[in-house]
Amino acid sequence: MSEEIKDTIEEGEKKGLNFVEQIVANDLAEGKNGGRLNTRFPPEPNGYLHIGHAKAICMDFGVAEKFGGTCNLRFDDTNPVKEDVEYVDAIREDIHWLGFDWGDREYYASDYFPQLFDLAVRLIKEGKAYVDDQTSEEIAAQKGTPTQPGQNSPYRDRTPEENLDLFMRMNAGEFEDGARVLRAKIDMASDNMHFRDPIMYRIITKYPHHRTGTQWKVYPMYDFAHGQSDFFEGVTHSICTLEFVPHRPLYDYFAQELAQGGNYCPRQIEFNRLNLTYTVMSKRKLLQLVKEGLVSGWDDPRMPTISGMRRRGYTPESIRKFIDTIGYTKYEALNSVSLLEHAVRDDLNRRATRVMAVMNPVKVVITNYPEGQTEMVSMENNPENPAEGTHEMPFSREIYIERDDFMENPPKKFFRLAPGGEVRLKGAYIIKCEEVIKDAEGNITEIRCTYDPESRSGLPGANRKVKGTLHWVSAAHAVDAEARLYDRLFAVENPAAETEKDFRELLNPDSLKVVSGIKIEPYLAEKAKEQGGKFQFQRIGYFTPDKDSTPDHIIFNRTIGLKDSWEKEQKK
Ligand code: ATP
Ligand code: MG
Repeated sequence: MSEEIKDTIEEGEKKGLNFVEQIVANDLAEGKNGGRLNTRFPPEPNGYLHIGHAKAICMDFGVAEKFGGTCNLRFDDTNPVKEDVEYVDAIREDIHWLGFDWGDREYYASDYFPQLFDLAVRLIKEGKAYVDDQTSEEIAAQKGTPTQPGQNSPYRDRTPEENLDLFMRMNAGEFEDGARVLRAKIDMASDNMHFRDPIMYRIITKYPHHRTGTQWKVYPMYDFAHGQSDFFEGVTHSICTLEFVPHRPLYDYFAQELAQGGNYCPRQIEFNRLNLTYTVMSKRKLLQLVKEGLVSGWDDPRMPTISGMRRRGYTPESIRKFIDTIGYTKYEALNSVSLLEHAVRDDLNRRATRVMAVMNPVKVVITNYPEGQTEMVSMENNPENPAEGTHEMPFSREIYIERDDFMENPPKKFFRLAPGGEVRLKGAYIIKCEEVIKDAEGNITEIRCTYDPESRSGLPGANRKVKGTLHWVSAAHAVDAEARLYDRLFAVENPAAETEKDFRELLNPDSLKVVSGIKIEPYLAEKAKEQGGKFQFQRIGYFTPDKDSTPDHIIFNRTIGLKDSWEKEQKK
């Protein structure tokens, strides 16, 4: 064992290695596989990656990084019916964005189709595989149950010669899709259902493969491709999720056919899946939401996809922090989305630029401020990091504040603006409400105030304390924008557990609220031209410009709200 690994293990024990890392550390310590460590992340390119995949990515790449190994990216592209290059490209982008890199180790299960075919031929010749002419329904009916043995197929005892001939003809396109399959001849009475003559190959002729075109008419099943692909690549630790525990004996069975007792064989290790409240993780369901237009696409900011979260303004650091927090175990669990939101808030608090935006504006006229005058006030960009400096914001006679920040008949503890009351305009002056103007219907159209010229932030008189501080923008300088406010995609905590209703009926009808005509300060309008900016709209929440923005129409996604003490107070 190298000194470096020894140190890592010692350090890890102090810090607490997770159980997968401990297994890896032990294998390395024992010198298994010649002391090599090689993991892989094996997405099927049949959808975009979601936060559950991020958990697997952090494990696969993370453990390799930690112990000086390598991690392959392997596209598990064995089913051309559902796969597409669009997904390949999106998966690459998302892994990079999360901060991981596979270097030149990008592989495809389809790269191994020739070797897998050769292995199938060998197993046929050795009497370990046979062609079954039954339909999938007939095969399923013979499978038995965990407590009852299955029945042998009537085609089970075909000779190797006949099987070989049929398998070749299957791949030559002589038979219809579904007409025949190749099965491993193992044990129809095994306690492990996966050993009951599992299907190795199926016929698919109607869908060209995104890489191999129409070259192949038979395609290997997951169980006949995954472990072998690991073997061909030299993967040492094949880390996956708990649903593959019952597949492990079959994984070992096929891997041993290749390893043949040699001193290298890949090993499968399983951890618990990530499940999040108020969303679904099934790619099939997510695809349905996209196809049926129930969301705007895979990158809809309400989706649990990596691309959706990126568009919404989540940072890779916050996702990795969240995954680190929940950890890896052997028990299935449902993780609260508020843990993820907490990580996002925490991270954005550190990096977001503080700006002013008024979501629901009402005009305030400062009657004793000279007409036509503008002065610049200085705003701190990030109190968490003074090195980020300040920016200037115009102040003038007419400004906008939030409608909710004014109440004509305020209850106790309402420290915002009210008739006769005073508040500070953040970074500027203290104003006092003198008069309220209403239209014929009684709606407030304007609030008339006076300001205290001595109270400007930074001046000696600025020390005068008032309870409330409001955000605001100068009316003449403000720019109009749109905000998209997101709420949870589903109305119930665990949509996957609801059996009575179709999951689409459980969608939250209020998961998207579009607010147009918000007023933003000029500095923000300028900054928002750059994609990916992270902003804190003071007193409101974290926002990021959306890709649908144009120079004349800026759109912001609300990443996450700030905690609001007033709202908590109201609930009491
Ligand atoms: P499907 O829903 O189509 O079965 P999948 O979500 O399992 O697909 P894959 O592309 O097969 O998607 O997954 C790639 C890897 O990501 C696998 O190793 C799988 O175990 C892991 N993975 C998938 N979902 C989760 C999840 N919710 N939590 C942790 N890991 C996951
Ligand atoms: Mg899968």
